[in-house]
Amino acid sequence: MTKLVNDPSDFPAELVSGFAAAFPHHVREVYGGVVRATRTPQGKVAVLTGGGTGHYPAFMGWVGPGFADGGVTGNIFASPSAAQAVSVAKAAERGGGVIIGFGNYAGDVLHFGDAVERLRAEGIDARALVVTDDIASAGVDEIEKRRGISGDLPVFKIAAAAAEEGMDIDEVERVFRHANDRTRTLGVAFSGCTLPGSDEPLFTVPKGRLGIGLGVHGEPGIDETDLGTADETATTLVEALLKERPEGADGRVVVLFNGLGTAKYEEMFVAYRTIEGQLEAAGLTVVDRLVGELVTSLDMGGVSLTLVWVDDELERLWKAPCDTPTVKMGQIAGEELTANEIQQVESAEQAIPEADDAGKAAAARLVDVLSSVSEALAAKKDELGELDTFAGDGDHGTGMARGSSEALASAREAADAGAGLRTALGRAGETWSDRAGGTSGALWGALLNAAAGELSDTGAPSADDLVRAAKAAVDAVARVGGAVAGDKTMLDALLPGIDALGAGDWAAAAVAAQQGAESTEQMRPKLGRARPLAEKSVGHADPGAVSAALVVCTIARHAGTAS
Ligand code: ADP
Ligand code: MG
Repeated sequence: MTKLVNDPSDFPAELVSGFAAAFPHHVREVYGGVVRATRTPQGKVAVLTGGGTGHYPAFMGWVGPGFADGGVTGNIFASPSAAQAVSVAKAAERGGGVIIGFGNYAGDVLHFGDAVERLRAEGIDARALVVTDDIASAGVDEIEKRRGISGDLPVFKIAAAAAEEGMDIDEVERVFRHANDRTRTLGVAFSGCTLPGSDEPLFTVPKGRLGIGLGVHGEPGIDETDLGTADETATTLVEALLKERPEGADGRVVVLFNGLGTAKYEEMFVAYRTIEGQLEAAGLTVVDRLVGELVTSLDMGGVSLTLVWVDDELERLWKAPCDTPTVKMGQIAGEELTANEIQQVESAEQAIPEADDAGKAAAARLVDVLSSVSEALAAKKDELGELDTFAGDGDHGTGMARGSSEALASAREAADAGAGLRTALGRAGETWSDRAGGTSGALWGALLNAAAGELSDTGAPSADDLVRAAKAAVDAVARVGGAVAGDKTMLDALLPGIDALGAGDWAAAAVAAQQGAESTEQMRPKLGRARPLAEKSVGHADPGAVSAALVVCTIARHAGTAS
């Protein structure tokens, strides 16, 4: 359990501010994360580490000369928003383009993909690249679906060193992909982890057992065995990784032995002695190693082993000097920036478009609906969170509660400033995506924005307008998320809801959405964070479908009282 905590919802932001205060010679805080406190040459490619907090030293602990130009922090175990990534990217970018590296989680894919689009629209060459080192999260035939875990460190470090050498963005991308192809990790857990402010861990490992192939967001393992000796655990890790020697590897490896949060360094050294011995016995040459906490998972008990099968280029770039709060290699001295050289990107105050009285009245009704939605989601927060623990990371309830309450605040602020329905709903969507984090945050942001696009700031919306907006909203979820009916996502509530809606029968839509959500109990998730643990979710409804049905029911209640 987290002991040093104020209001749990402030925890992610407070920890970033404190981190920046602790490392003033390395980092400066900007909206959405941190950037280097030292000067970087014009034209250099900026490399950003993406992916949330709760994993320290990943990812902000790697910002500094020779390594990352910035770190996008976001929420605990939830992806940062596109707006946060854009803010950090703009503060770090020096004309050479931006590469955002991250661990291939669904929410990250959506938010960072969106950030890349926004940066490109402003003429900045931006690319989002994923790390896929976790051999437990998918088979070799589906390597692109694997999660990124502690392999993030070497892949980001090597790509960042390439940028530091002056390579252009195409070359840095090539190096990133090559480093990722050569990096493999397996993790094991002795005990689960607990979100700050929560009393219950996200998962537990029975006493005396060892969970194999866990995720770094509190996703439980895919397999379990008896917990043996340190040497036996070391052997489990080494043997699994040796089975996956990448093509072209010549036997040189960089080894990372990582503590996941509460593994003791002393215990890790006991196991590491065996790991290095077994690698050498298998004919490999260990050219470098890091042993310690590198990519953690809050207070999870466990370790992971990463092998980077290096060639000359990868070895040179891995060993290139860097100076960050937590990773230091060779000798390097950064020149500190003056305060006014730090580019703070504030989201520009946007003007409110003209609305008429009917448009303003519609915005006021939207605020009422959002207020009920936010209340309903807050009331079900724990239930939704629990549903998300079976195959996910337990954050769905907090994400939806936060997203909807922040969206409500934005819509209310816009409405108070004279906005019509379209603008108020659009602002709500932006904010939902920005503040909620996670896969569902990106999708609900897209959903509200698409609905807003069908509506107007003037005149009262007709029943047809609302049906059209609802259809556009559901289409946007399908388009952005790429899921189809039966994939066990929120779409399994939304699609039947839309079918039943017809010309505006919201009560029928609510019943159908509810039934759709219930039908997900028997489904196996085909995408998203839950996919690697599909079996564990059978028998439990999809959290995103349940929350979506709740929203449809709340809207239906309002529609009923209006007519
Ligand atoms: P995360 O998975 O990033 O932790 P949440 O826990 O907030 O995000 O949301 C999980 C929910 O998001 C799932 O239950 C599912 O309904 C929905 N979801 C995940 N991926 C998709 C997708 N590609 N399309 C539609 N919905 C999705
Ligand atoms: Mg989740």
